[in-house]
Amino acid sequence: MRQKVIFGNWKMNGNKEGLISFLKKVEKAIKKSDVKAGLALPFTLLETGINKAKIIDIAAQNVHFATNGAYTGEVSIAMLKEINTKYVVIGHSERREMFGETDDTVNKKAIELIKAGITPIICCGETLEIKEAKKTVTWVNGQIKKAYKNISPSDALKTIIAYEPIWAIGTGKTATANDAEIVCQKIRENLAKIYDEKVADQITIQYGGSVNPSNISELMSQKNIDGALVGGASLKADDFIALINYK
Ligand code: PGA
Repeated sequence: MRQKVIFGNWKMNGNKEGLISFLKKVEKAIKKSDVKAGLALPFTLLETGINKAKIIDIAAQNVHFATNGAYTGEVSIAMLKEINTKYVVIGHSERREMFGETDDTVNKKAIELIKAGITPIICCGETLEIKEAKKTVTWVNGQIKKAYKNISPSDALKTIIAYEPIWAIGTGKTATANDAEIVCQKIRENLAKIYDEKVADQITIQYGGSVNPSNISELMSQKNIDGALVGGASLKADDFIALINYK
């Protein structure tokens, strides 16, 4: 059985006071289930989130792979580890598009995070152009292959994948549950090729892109979709509660 993981991604939103009341409300309302709930927060909110949250796991939205040094504006893995960060989202399309994240930096980050005992949530996904050219699977599987370069099978089990078609992020256009399922299934087949079926069967694959309380159940009912990475709909406590309690 794969772990079900639903994470909110607050992106560059939120403040301390809002986070504290969000956590209070959400943690009271989350039903006991097999779903792991988490929130990817901006750096300045991480420590508050980690100290205040009892059930919800906290993730950073980025990290640098270098140990330390002259990287103005960056945060290292050791810095995240010092405040007990358990997850880091890497390779989000917004970081790839706007901040120079590449398949190579994603791979380096994944390797170093695993070494540090932090779970990378590895994002992949295609643009509308690639989708329309019917090259989604080739593209996404290329990203996955590069992300997992030099990662052993036992280390691959310490990762999570988030499939997020770029055209579906923040646009209100969700991939149909069936389309999302097909890509996630292809990712799993690819993992079986890179590793083996046993490894592929155990890796959690989330879907992301305009997930909300009304489409979460259908997405989660797909065989190869084990969770969600949710932007917009994770910002309001009531929506987030509905997402986590989707069953
Ligand atoms: P969205 O964002 O749910 O607002 O589409 C998803 C994401 O970028 O992780």
